[in-house]
Amino acid sequence: MILLGSTGSIGINALRLAQKFNINIEVLVAGSNIDLLNKQIEIFKPSFVVIASKNDLHKVKHTSLQISVQAGEEAILEVIEKAKSTKVLNALSGFFGLRPSLKTIECKKQLCLANKESLVVAGEFLKYDNLRPIDSEHFGLWYLLQDKKIHSMLITASGGSFRDYPLESLKNVGIKEALNHPNWSMGDKITIDSATMTNKLYELLEAKHLFKTKKIDAIIERHSLVHALINFKDGSTTAHIAKANMQLPIAYALKDVIDEEILEHVDLLKINALKFEKISSKRYPIWEIKDYILDNPHLGVVLNAANEIAVAKFLSKKISFLDISKLTLEALNKFSHIHAKNIDELFEIDKEVRVYCES
Ligand code: NDP
Ligand code: MG
Repeated sequence: MILLGSTGSIGINALRLAQKFNINIEVLVAGSNIDLLNKQIEIFKPSFVVIASKNDLHKVKHTSLQISVQAGEEAILEVIEKAKSTKVLNALSGFFGLRPSLKTIECKKQLCLANKESLVVAGEFLKYDNLRPIDSEHFGLWYLLQDKKIHSMLITASGGSFRDYPLESLKNVGIKEALNHPNWSMGDKITIDSATMTNKLYELLEAKHLFKTKKIDAIIERHSLVHALINFKDGSTTAHIAKANMQLPIAYALKDVIDEEILEHVDLLKINALKFEKISSKRYPIWEIKDYILDNPHLGVVLNAANEIAVAKFLSKKISFLDISKLTLEALNKFSHIHAKNIDELFEIDKEVRVYCES
């Protein structure tokens, strides 16, 4: 397997499962956490390693001369082509993950996709049969699918770090509180996206592309135990219930048949009560554009570029928490006319939106 983003939250879980399933790791790609990468190299003995920066190359431990170690985006794309493995797990974070996804498709390899930004930005150009999404909600929907007429689909949101904060206090909340997710332990970017609810917009767009449906919505379920629901035409609704742990979705991306325990069952008696709530645009201003973005999925590239810049600005204390959604909404307004005809235009638009949001 080729693992992109091995030192991240998804990457670490994927390696645990690779060990459990005895899956050979041919390629490890990581950013700047070289200490962890070195431990992974020792255990998994990959043939190829790629890191983000040339400046860190000397820190990578060559346990054997057979390992090729390189740096940079081009090296990632090369190794996807060069390696013998036909399975690529893309757990890179952000727009940076898009080119590797495209490369995987070009090489006709299986794309196990945690990098949701690939679908949000380029869903229209990513029609690919050999794709397995790694996101608890889409995994849940896939798990529930049956050969029956579907009325509509639902995914759930936890509500994120600020779901219980008084509304007036949201303008003053800080980075540390924003990164304190009540249910999931994930990378910084997606944790902030959960607090603003942008993550759920992303997931609705993903679901639209993956399941080719317009009838998709989201509600809050604060335990993150019910991940997805399907309403069937006959009036029945089924729900996917599992612990808030990414190992289950990852396991099904790695292996076709799972007949062993990956997670313990949810003890329903211990939860006591499940509650479902509406997502309010008062608390999550980005939610205003939910229907608009689902009707105009080609604007995913604008939504994503603006949000990436806004989150980075928030994390470097240049803007406040509420400004993240504000800036994103402004950019969507400014670039409402664009519609990329091909992938090259998509990259151009991404750049333009970033320049606008930076200034
Ligand atoms: P993390 O931030 O934890 O991990 C990102 C990974 O990408 C790290 O291994 C990082 O390396 C690596 N990376 C970053 N920049 C570069 C670069 N320039 N070159 C090479 N490697 C790079 O993110 P998550 O694991 O949380 O998320 C990954 C993706 O999965 C995201 O798109 C997210 O939205 C999605 N996802 C995550 C879920 C979760 O539970 N975490 C759930 C569903 C989807 P390093 O750390 O060494 O710098
Ligand atoms: Mg999710």
